[in-house]
Amino acid sequence: MRATRCLMSDLVAAEKVLIEKYGGNIQLAAGSTPRKFKLIALNNRGPGAVVHTEVHTVRETDPCAIMAGKPAIEYIEKKRHLPYACWHAHGDFFEALYRVSGTARIYSRGKPVDRSDVWADASRMNNCEC
Ligand SMILES: [Zn+2]
Repeated sequence: MRATRCLMSDLVAAEKVLIEKYGGNIQLAAGSTPRKFKLIALNNRGPGAVVHTEVHTVRETDPCAIMAGKPAIEYIEKKRHLPYACWHAHGDFFEALYRVSGTARIYSRGKPVDRSDVWADASRMNNCEC
């Protein structure tokens, strides 16, 4: 993430929203260059942390069992709790930063995060337990 046209103090002010909403679990971390940042989860099982779900094939069901109504392939889901902020937390931060700084611009993966609802990317919203 990168923020331009704002001050580091604006980022810190916006972080207060995260501290209140996510019980202090989500924190602003400075990136490698000025105004680069990331939002991290101090406790990867705490509020606002990313939960990545992987679906694995366990085994194919015996044909006789399929005839009896069992699913043809058995799956299990494995959840990995990651030390990063979920997209909800990012959205809360983006909105807070835009309130704090009227001139701020935010970039995620090189693309601008619009002041409108563009940050609410549905594909990223399911990776948590919010
Ligand atoms: Zn979330």
